[in-house]
Amino acid sequence: MKKQTEAIHTGFQRSDSYGALSMPVYHTAAYEFPDAASMVESFCGRSTDPDYSRVMNPTVTFFENKVKQLTGAVDVIAFSSGMAAISNTLIALAAAGKNIVTSRHLFGNTYALLSKTLSRFGVETRLVDLTNPAAVEAAMDSSTCCLFLEIMTNPQMEVADIPALAAIARKWNVPLVADTTMIPFTEFSASALGIDIEVVSSTKYISGGATSIGGLVMDYGTCEEFGKRMRTEMLLNLGAYMTPHVAYMQTIGLENLHARYLLQSANTMRLAEMLRTLPAIKEVNYPGLADNRFHEISRHQFGSTFGAMITIELANQEACFKFLNALKLVRRATNLFDNKTLAIHPASTIFGPFTAEQKREMDVKDTTIRLSVGLEDMEDVFNDINQALNEI
Ligand SMILES: *Cc1c(COP(=O)(O)O)cnc(C)c1O
Repeated sequence: MKKQTEAIHTGFQRSDSYGALSMPVYHTAAYEFPDAASMVESFCGRSTDPDYSRVMNPTVTFFENKVKQLTGAVDVIAFSSGMAAISNTLIALAAAGKNIVTSRHLFGNTYALLSKTLSRFGVETRLVDLTNPAAVEAAMDSSTCCLFLEIMTNPQMEVADIPALAAIARKWNVPLVADTTMIPFTEFSASALGIDIEVVSSTKYISGGATSIGGLVMDYGTCEEFGKRMRTEMLLNLGAYMTPHVAYMQTIGLENLHARYLLQSANTMRLAEMLRTLPAIKEVNYPGLADNRFHEISRHQFGSTFGAMITIELANQEACFKFLNALKLVRRATNLFDNKTLAIHPASTIFGPFTAEQKREMDVKDTTIRLSVGLEDMEDVFNDINQALNEI
């Protein structure tokens, strides 16, 4: 069977008493045991019987198993948000005196997690150009605990050579950790590219229709200590496991992810081409466009789709705000890969708390509008963007 078919038909661990066809939502905090010995087995991690829903819940396990089928990961853990997945992963890998090598081009909260939160615990972050392997190599040393990247940065949409980074990580014997939120894991194999640990904000493509906040960590089994620490330390001590209701909603999203994404990425390609014809737009940035700087490497690594996010460049911040205010169909909202097309001015919102100097270093520009392309008919979306540009 193809992976997609397996993902839809993944069985429950135990059949439901009523023969429910959808996985029931187990809204329970605790689980009862038939005797003391089976309690010991569960609490000491020697059986797969759940003991407490901060650590395991059958509805969440079912969602995790589907992701396992699709990715081939050795273990998958679902978290309460993408940031929980990232922070739990980095806390599991880092320690005082260690450093994390990564890029200046990071999701705003990930950047702040490293530069503000983890730095208070003595973890150093080294920001380098990940598209330059020599610079990455120069930043690594014996205190490096991981190499972290986003496979397509947001909003710059930069794509680094992942196998080249994997080779550097292997040389220093540290895991390559990748945030793959921008391209669904149904479209490419992270482990085939050399990624050891994959993190995803399942709030985005997977939830489908932006129903809920969630995150995933896929462990490809190359870092044994990490897998053990996540299950026996992070889930218990940090308490950021996904809730069963969210797992239920995201399971439904996962089942139709492939179908939605094919339409959404095709829509994005079509919109990018249409937007290029408009003189008010100085530049359309989308790796799907054949002359985009990252087109070839993106195609090579992720296949024939390029995600559902576009950025456009307007004259200045004032033009961007006028444009946003004139939109009638496209929604002014953050989030990515909603069913609806969304627009935002990243520099003043997601990156609003950063100084002008920091934004310059991160290549976050006042002239950029980010569009997350939805499932509408693109002619309607194009017409709305076109009329809004005429209001500038
Ligand atoms: C949204 C996002 C996150 C954070 O995910 P949440 O689910 O909002 O916590 C992390 N990385 C990337 C690339 C994102 O787009």
